[in-house]
Amino acid sequence: MKIHEYQAKELFSSFSIPVPAGKIASTPREASEAAASLSGPVVVKAQIYAGGRGKAGGVRLVDSPQEAEGAAEKILGHPLVTHQTGPAGRMVNRVLVEEATAVKTEIYLGITIDRSRRLPVIMASPAGGMEIEQIAMDSPEKIFKEWIFPEIGLRGFQAYRLALKLGLSAPETKQVARVISNLYRLFVERDCMLVEINPLVIDSGGSVIALDAKINFDDSGLFRHPEIEKLRDPNEENPLELEAKKNNLNYIKLDGNVGCLVNGAGLAMATMDLIKLAGAAPANFLDVGGSANEEMIEKGFSLLLSDPDVRAVFINIFGGILRCDILARGIVAAVKRLEVKVPVIVRLEGTNVEQGREILAKSGLEFLRASDLDEAATLIARALQGEEK
Ligand code: GDP
Ligand code: MN
Repeated sequence: MKIHEYQAKELFSSFSIPVPAGKIASTPREASEAAASLSGPVVVKAQIYAGGRGKAGGVRLVDSPQEAEGAAEKILGHPLVTHQTGPAGRMVNRVLVEEATAVKTEIYLGITIDRSRRLPVIMASPAGGMEIEQIAMDSPEKIFKEWIFPEIGLRGFQAYRLALKLGLSAPETKQVARVISNLYRLFVERDCMLVEINPLVIDSGGSVIALDAKINFDDSGLFRHPEIEKLRDPNEENPLELEAKKNNLNYIKLDGNVGCLVNGAGLAMATMDLIKLAGAAPANFLDVGGSANEEMIEKGFSLLLSDPDVRAVFINIFGGILRCDILARGIVAAVKRLEVKVPVIVRLEGTNVEQGREILAKSGLEFLRASDLDEAATLIARALQGEEK
């Protein structure tokens, strides 16, 4: 789960990580009032769960409350398109109005899990302000890392060793080391997957301050943090994922174009591999669960079809508790009710498979029936090729 920048900055503050004074506003009027209550020039920043706002016009430096109002007017109520949002962009409902900082130096600082080492890694770079992925590609030697053994924790010397590599003055280094320690504490205590400050800046007076803030929490740890769960912004969540959650369906949106409906998480994973092997990519992960009924199948199927990315649907079911005849009835009902314009490939196996196949065959609907996984893969590949012509 992600949170907004202004919420992440409140969390930073409570972990003694310095952030600019600021206020949240949801109307241009409020933005102007916020600016008037702060001192000097301010920055008006779009609050969406995506980065790259600066280059997209979502971060504006202004000199007066009137200008802040004007900037907020341009940002609020409009979708902001950044390289992370996709072409449709994200609707901006709030702006953060902050005292502007006179920037001397921009640093990158982030903590995440290094999966290959199975350890948290702290990354720092003097090339701040840029996308870390870009720095990693263009000049990987500019990213410095410290790996942390969780049972030992972050040692003071590690925070210093990392800060020292940034080429700062002694007092600046000391402050950055303190930010690193506090950020690691936050990362661990709040069960984060990622915390990122880009940029962490040194201002003209030599003070270190976090200008941006990004946090990604581990969903599996959220039950320990009800106060974080409360920060969830439904406007920022994928509408299909929200809909799925309401119906007890395990659904995750992905960026391919083959919609898959599967029962069981293991089979869902194997199905995604199969789609990849066929040279295509899954549009989603959807586990309808072992004990799904006709209604849930129909719900899941209509969810898949409401995703505009879906060019073909692959239904891969191993009937155990969920019997194949029930599944087949659910699919037939869904196809009859919905307007299905994409090929539907079905592979059924397990309990009552004969009845299930018969229901599909007699439905008068056009299913591409696969007798095994290899055939399914071939059909998927063919369906998508036909689509490209
Ligand atoms: P992002 O583009 O979504 O990552 O948004 P950021 O919060 O990182 O803002 C984008 C850029 O705006 C930063 O990298 C800074 O260079 C710049 N910026 C943000 N706030 C200030 C500020 O108070 N003063 C100055 N001079 N630049 C700022
Ligand atoms: Mn940033």
